[in-house]
Amino acid sequence: MTVVFGGTFDPVHLGHVHAANVAGNILNSSILMVLSAAPAHRKAPVASIEDRWQMLRAACANEHRLVPSDIEMCREGPSYAVETLISLNATQDRPVIWVLGDDAFDLVHTWYRSGELLGRCSFLVFTREGNKTRRLPSGFVEVDELSVLKRVSGTVYFGEQAMEEISATSLRHDIARGCSVQHLLPPGVMEHVNHRGLYLT
Ligand code: ATP
Repeated sequence: MTVVFGGTFDPVHLGHVHAANVAGNILNSSILMVLSAAPAHRKAPVASIEDRWQMLRAACANEHRLVPSDIEMCREGPSYAVETLISLNATQDRPVIWVLGDDAFDLVHTWYRSGELLGRCSFLVFTREGNKTRRLPSGFVEVDELSVLKRVSGTVYFGEQAMEEISATSLRHDIARGCSVQHLLPPGVMEHVNHRGLYLT
């Protein structure tokens, strides 16, 4: 079973680490933390690929279930999930489980070649900050048993676990305003942000 938690990670924060660990614990699996090197569906990241990669590595360093993955950094052009799924050999009966927050899940229907996701992945979706979306991408079905995700592609399970109310955008704004964000970042990430003077403007 391959489980992916993808993100721009600009910067990676304790909300990501918490969500990925919850997924790892309930699925009893390691989690590939895939850095979206050149995200196709949002504004260009503020920090460079190298900085985001260093921060992701630092965040995973003491988390035994979390494995940083440069799979999307090694490809040319925009980072498309469908191409990552193909590289990971995801198939209908051996789908990759893609873990994401409901804000990201809401946009899955806009992903490149989204129709092909149906035959290659299933989704574990966590609810962030009271969002209660239950809209499914075309063809996907909601299941009430987590174990189905690893056997059948095109399935979606909504986890009920509480998430941390942390967002990378507000974190960057806090840093620019000089507010302390130490309690929101893994220690190695905080060090990297300070050392490189990231997000100050
Ligand atoms: P931004 O606030 O700029 O949108 P972000 O905090 O959502 O950034 P991303 O790297 O875009 O960070 O998110 C990657 C994935 O992590 C997405 O699936 C997103 O829903 C999820 N995620 C982000 N923050 C949290 C959180 N606090 N709890 C659970 N999931 C989260």
